[in-house]
Amino acid sequence: MTAFAFHTTRSILVRSGAAADLGQHAGPVLGPRVLLVTDPGLRRIGLDRAPVQSLQAAGQDVTVFDRVEPDPSVATLEAAVAAGRAAGVSGVLGLGGGSSLDVAKVAALRLGSDQPLDQAWGVGRARGKRLPLVLVPTTAGTGSEVTPVAILTVEGDEKRGISSDILLPDLAILDADLTLGLPPEITAATGIDAMVHAIEAYASASPNNNPLSRMLAREALRLLGAHIETAVHHGGDRPAREAMLLGAMLAGQAFANSPVAAVHALAYPVGGLFHIPHGLSNALLLTHVLRFNLPAAAATYAGIAADAFPGLAATPEPGRAEAFIAALDDLIRRLGMPQRLRDVGIPHQALAGMAAEAMKQERLLVNNPRRVTEADALSIYLEAW
Ligand code: NAD
Repeated sequence: MTAFAFHTTRSILVRSGAAADLGQHAGPVLGPRVLLVTDPGLRRIGLDRAPVQSLQAAGQDVTVFDRVEPDPSVATLEAAVAAGRAAGVSGVLGLGGGSSLDVAKVAALRLGSDQPLDQAWGVGRARGKRLPLVLVPTTAGTGSEVTPVAILTVEGDEKRGISSDILLPDLAILDADLTLGLPPEITAATGIDAMVHAIEAYASASPNNNPLSRMLAREALRLLGAHIETAVHHGGDRPAREAMLLGAMLAGQAFANSPVAAVHALAYPVGGLFHIPHGLSNALLLTHVLRFNLPAAAATYAGIAADAFPGLAATPEPGRAEAFIAALDDLIRRLGMPQRLRDVGIPHQALAGMAAEAMKQERLLVNNPRRVTEADALSIYLEAW
């Protein structure tokens, strides 16, 4: 068997309603003064109220930083760090989608380590201690609660990542009740994001692609494929929401150890330059990248087709990968998502610049089952336009 390493979050609590008892679960980890990192939308709908009250009832002092924007910037990170320093916090709690969780991760690092941020970008380069960290996702998408990754937007609208096991939190709490009110379009985009994580992890060319990641990716696809439409169209369906949150986490564990590839690399310029939500950016590129990959990955895609779409078990092997891609196209359409880059306002003349920008994502492109040149990236964008 090929050697591999597998890392994940040390403690994971999965229970609907757990966020209301946050003080009991997260209090002992975080210490007496907590920096809560979240976004203004969640604050507006009061999703932070019960967790904050629970922490306060457990005797914790809570400083709320609620200024995280989608695809958060380094300036936002620095503001969160400044708020944490001013309050002398002992631990960081991230509550929200991937944007809030990623800011919480790097804030915990910056508050505990004196390494300059410039030296932490990339894989395995972050150093030092971080403050205790608890992550509570409110979208079923990124899996950030179990990944060593944090993505921030740097000057020039480039999305840049830090990947280091130091960023894995001490505790992740999955409370599907927090996701019951997630609007349909965010449910769809984040759910497709999770499916992309599972597909790219399963097919990753990373030397650390491993049997655990592949097993987790397949179970993730089963859960996400079976429940995404119910979650989008009947948001209050708790079993569907629970399945989505679990599926997104399993996909996160899969790709944390068998990293994602060209769908993400080509999606980043869409998000970074045009501020299209991350999951939607992935959805717009997904089937075009998979079609490009077919010469290298048809058998791999055929192997997972029936996990996401059980009806495809009856489709004969030559042609099953193409049927899988067509089923994904169909799903994205049924979820009511925009389907072409031009539908989200991306001008044709931007595509060449986006292709150049995508090539900066070497960290991801090396994992693609088929090599992607800048000319390939441009033709994929043209197909997707
Ligand atoms: P997000 O965190 O940007 O949130 C999107 C919107 O959803 C926000 O307006 C927020 O207020 C709203 N929202 C979140 N939860 C809600 C709820 N329960 N009810 C109502 N509204 C809610 O979205 P995301 O897709 O979760 O995260 C995207 C970010 O995560 C991107 O920056 C992406 O690059 C990053 N990412 C990180 C990883 C990782 O491993 N760390 C993986 C994939 C993506």
